[in-house]
Amino acid sequence: MDFKLTREQTMLVESLKDMARREKFKDLAAHIDETGEFPFFLVEKFAGLGLLGMTLSPEYGGQGESSLSAILAIEELAKYSCAIAAPVFESNVGPVRNIDMFGTEEQKKKILPPVCRGEFSVSVSMTEPEAGSDLTSLVTHVEDQKDHLVLNGKKVFTTGGGHASHYLVYTRFGNIPGHKGIGAVIAEKGMPGFTFGKQERFMGLNGMPSCDLYFDNVRIPKENVVIHPGDFSKLMLTFDIERCGNAAMCLGIAGGAYEEAKQYALKREAFGKPICEFQAIQFMAAEMATKLDAARLLVYRAAAGAGQGLPSIYEASMAKSFANQMVREVTDTAMQIFGGYGYSKEYPLERMVRDARAWGLAGGTLQMLKITLAGMIFGRRFNQRK
Ligand SMILES: Cc1cc2nc3c(=O)[nH]c(=O)nc-3n(C[C@H](O)[C@H](O)[C@H](O)COP(=O)(O)OP(=O)(O)OC[C@H]3O[C@@H](n4cnc5c(N)ncnc54)[C@H](O)[C@@H]3O)c2cc1C
Repeated sequence: MDFKLTREQTMLVESLKDMARREKFKDLAAHIDETGEFPFFLVEKFAGLGLLGMTLSPEYGGQGESSLSAILAIEELAKYSCAIAAPVFESNVGPVRNIDMFGTEEQKKKILPPVCRGEFSVSVSMTEPEAGSDLTSLVTHVEDQKDHLVLNGKKVFTTGGGHASHYLVYTRFGNIPGHKGIGAVIAEKGMPGFTFGKQERFMGLNGMPSCDLYFDNVRIPKENVVIHPGDFSKLMLTFDIERCGNAAMCLGIAGGAYEEAKQYALKREAFGKPICEFQAIQFMAAEMATKLDAARLLVYRAAAGAGQGLPSIYEASMAKSFANQMVREVTDTAMQIFGGYGYSKEYPLERMVRDARAWGLAGGTLQMLKITLAGMIFGRRFNQRK
């Protein structure tokens, strides 16, 4: 078993560290949190560095890189801010991977090259007011009108909502009940009848756009069907790549908090010596480092196992649920090391604590992932409806 990164992966991480220093990402992260402004200017720079769509197929402008490379990039950028990491996340582990893997030739030609250039971005719209964890209860639906489809429904919590150019919308086809009736279509911003709600105000993740989506008799060309009903499992399989990305965001936030706390403990003095001299602080640091590394190993295993394809459901679910929990614990401990200053908005810790909470909700809750894991452990499907 080789735990070493390749030369290219090491260089990728180093180049992002340089970029973070050059672009003053620490200051930018505070600015984004304060103003809620998404750093659009970075999209072009990321495209220039080849960070957008690096996991996508080379024939459509991608670089055919492994998911692990994208995970490393997301982790490095999320040490500063999830909003900074967001374009790399969306273009490499987001729903665009679904189009790359299962889309038609026309869909790939139309969407993937502009994603790699930073001109398009694709968001995923699954969740509805009455269908979150219980996703297969979704009621958004398309009706077949022979030469086109008509989409009606409402989606909530779409990350990138209002800003993304394209939306992979999970929808029911006709009246087919349960998961067998669910597929996915691409809705394009600007289509008549497709509108957005007001931007969501979350506890954290300031600067990450999110809103409700409304579909009122939206005419969807049949060429925009990515997943047909009956292929729901394809949606879930590709979503496991996104789950590895979610876990990478957690590694980043926790890594950033750990580093801040370490530096603070070396400098801050109490009782005439740096607080790192106290065993209580040393144990906190050792526990943070251990949890972070344990999560890293799980996330890297899932991403490395995926290669350029799909991760194992078991490994991705385990990596995400562990990282979701880990980031809450590590950011909380880091904030404690900062004492009263950790609670102050003058320092980044309270923001990291707020941002940490999001990831065990987005992409499937901690509880739902553990139900998936339990099903695999016991070799049976635990039907939540019975
Ligand atoms: C920051 C953020 C970003 C998001 N981004 C997106 C996005 O881009 N696209 C999108 O479609 N959605 C997105 N979501 C929505 C997210 O996927 C849902 O919030 C999530 O799936 C949970 O659904 P819910 O909020 O309806 O909670 P519910 O499903 O109502 O769950 C409420 C609680 O009950 C628990 N629960 C439910 N069923 C069970 C069960 N059977 N056993 C045990 N516990 C259970 C849940 O774990 C949770 O604790 C995002 C959410 C957040 C917070």
